[in-house]
Amino acid sequence: METKKIIIIGSGFSSLSASCYLASQGFDVTILEKNKTVGGRARQLKKDGFVFDIGPTFYWMPDVFESFFKDFNKSTDDYYSLNKLNPAYQIYFGKKDSVSISDNFEDIKQTFENIEKGSGKKLQKFINKAHRNYNIAIKDLVYKPGEHVFEIINKKTFLKLYEFVLTIKNQVSGYVKNKQLQKILEFPVLFLGAKPSNTPSFYNFMNYADFKLGTWHPKGGMYEVVKAMTTLSKSLGVKIITSSEVEKVEIKNNNVTGVTTHSGYFPCDILLSGADYHHTETLLPKPLRQYSESYWDKKVFAPSALLFYVGFDKKLNNVSHHTLFFDTDFEAHAKTIYDTKEWAEKPLFYASFPSITDASTAPEGQEAGIFLIPIAPDVEDTPEIREHYFNQLVERVETITGESIKSNILFKESYCVNNFKDDYHSYKGNAYGLANTLTQTHVLRPKLKSKKVDNLYFCGQLTVPGPGVPPSLISGKIVSDLILKYH
Ligand SMILES: Cc1cc2nc3c(=O)[nH]c(=O)nc-3n(C[C@H](O)[C@H](O)[C@H](O)COP(=O)(O)OP(=O)(O)OC[C@H]3O[C@@H](n4cnc5c(N)ncnc54)[C@H](O)[C@@H]3O)c2cc1C
Repeated sequence: METKKIIIIGSGFSSLSASCYLASQGFDVTILEKNKTVGGRARQLKKDGFVFDIGPTFYWMPDVFESFFKDFNKSTDDYYSLNKLNPAYQIYFGKKDSVSISDNFEDIKQTFENIEKGSGKKLQKFINKAHRNYNIAIKDLVYKPGEHVFEIINKKTFLKLYEFVLTIKNQVSGYVKNKQLQKILEFPVLFLGAKPSNTPSFYNFMNYADFKLGTWHPKGGMYEVVKAMTTLSKSLGVKIITSSEVEKVEIKNNNVTGVTTHSGYFPCDILLSGADYHHTETLLPKPLRQYSESYWDKKVFAPSALLFYVGFDKKLNNVSHHTLFFDTDFEAHAKTIYDTKEWAEKPLFYASFPSITDASTAPEGQEAGIFLIPIAPDVEDTPEIREHYFNQLVERVETITGESIKSNILFKESYCVNNFKDDYHSYKGNAYGLANTLTQTHVLRPKLKSKKVDNLYFCGQLTVPGPGVPPSLISGKIVSDLILKYH
């Protein structure tokens, strides 16, 4: 039998994952990536001896990465070395007022107890529940393709239905009263792209991932995972062609026959797109698109982000590898992202200083800093606005941590809405895809298999299971299973 040719658009985590599964099943797989380097939103920036992850920096759910490599009789150890961070992260709530989250659950319980009497025991109960949900999520939910709702209905999930109606915000406030502790417990679901008051409490399984599975760092940064997956996919025979943007999808009788790039025509039997869903559909003739512009416009997108990659000429004190600045009103900030869709006056932000634990990411005696402000998708993006927020960040870091940094900046690079659009064809410049709200979960997310074009498939953070690196790896696996099922 003739080997079937599969073209994959994009080289993000979901595409790389799918390419490995499909090549190992005997398909002839070619990845076409528009950018010069692979990795999509997880590319790398190198400058003057500093190394920055452009996108993801939190390595959570190590079991999902391990399970991916195990499917190919490999282990993460074969490719990169992991360090469990302690503290996992530090959260500033105000001037010199911070809480550090240890890598050990008993310590975390004590931290809670010190802030609110009795909360250590309550946290144990909360995490027990989160643990049960994590097991259900991994076994019965996230690896399902979302073809129909019956995939996920069983006795265990049925008993959890009420947790899809209750929000994480409501649930957390039932366990702890202290506002700081509430913010700590609400933080992990921000990775899902929606606000805690709009996220089903079932997603508290992210708290189990946070407190029990821990926060890890691959030596060299998250890009080491991209490199590992690229090495694996090439070893399985995948061809990867960079600087090769797919400009048109060729269709005959409701079947993709191939794609066109500036360097020519690539015929295929099956097309899989790991590029943003909305963009991929614009490459099709209008009648063959499944979702209208108004469908996309009504969806709750995860935030975009304003990012800065900064080289400091000294080591910094009073901050950790991952440091969150939750010193302002989150509700007011969230309102600007999801409701008014404008810049927040004083947004919360996140900073990562990988060189605190990983000397390979900055020259000796210096520090690499990554700053991220979550913002509304499609918000106005100008050099002046970027500069305004950079100055605010620097001032706030100095005031809150008591460490002067302004005169120690060697350089800064920025990244925002316009870059997300230019680099990834991201819809409205979103950073993390489609949020995981109640009405955007499982069958209610855009489909992995096109309903209009027989041999066209999709994967990635706009599909199931959702945003984040581990879900992207899973998305690549489940779309490959679906392709095997139908072809
Ligand atoms: C700033 C930021 C911070 C994040 N932090 C974390 C974190 O700490 N932890 C975590 O787990 N997750 C994090 N995430 C989310 C995570 O990075 C993403 O969910 C994941 O990388 C998405 O992978 P993907 O395969 O869906 O898509 P992408 O990475 O977007 O890949 C899509 C690819 O398609 C390519 N493409 C688009 N159009 C075309 C075309 N026409 N032709 C050819 N190629 C095309 C793009 O160039 C891109 O390479 C973060 C994301 C961002 C942006």
